[in-house]
Amino acid sequence: MRITIIYDNEAIEQGLKADWGFSCLIEGQNTPPILFDTGGSGSILLHNMKELGISPDTIDIIIISHGHFDHTGGLQGVLEVNQDAELYLPASVGHSVTGRKVVKIKDACEICENVFTTGQLKGIEQSLVLKTGKGVVVVAGCSHPGVGSILNAASKFGTVYGIVGGFHGFSDFERLNDLSLICPCHCTQHKREIKQLFPDKSVDCGAGLVLEL
Ligand SMILES: [Zn+2]
Ligand SMILES: [Zn+2]
Repeated sequence: MRITIIYDNEAIEQGLKADWGFSCLIEGQNTPPILFDTGGSGSILLHNMKELGISPDTIDIIIISHGHFDHTGGLQGVLEVNQDAELYLPASVGHSVTGRKVVKIKDACEICENVFTTGQLKGIEQSLVLKTGKGVVVVAGCSHPGVGSILNAASKFGTVYGIVGGFHGFSDFERLNDLSLICPCHCTQHKREIKQLFPDKSVDCGAGLVLEL
């Protein structure tokens, strides 16, 4: 499986714009292309997708982690150029979109082959659980429910190999001891400490990063 960071507070590839927010593309052999979150601005999202060679109309599924603008801001822009993608929204966001299949997520479930949601945790946010060749990988938007709660929910699907996404103010670093891949993105406040504690398994996040799993 492959995760490509499209939208992040930082950019690591030339030509890509950095902006407060998060979005990534998830692709796999038996997995339809999934856009997870849409960043804060449709024009920046579409600009970065173009630079990365990602055609918005090839996306089959759009999943929103939670209702904050820095994850939903680009949704309208991508829906204008993509006519058929299904939407998976946490129940707390849960508005309907004309002409679209919208699935409102409350509980953990399978979205498609090898892709699961933790369900909406603490009434605010869902994270993705990917079954990859290396183990279970978590993709989180802002981690408002807490990285610990998200890892607990994800571990029901298998041994957690890694986590990618915004960790917010997370500082209970021991929770990361057993992971092999740590990729703190977006709103993570303690990026430097995490890198110092886990130099061998930390990956610097930014728009343009591609993780092969
Ligand atoms: Zn948020
Ligand atoms: Zn955020």
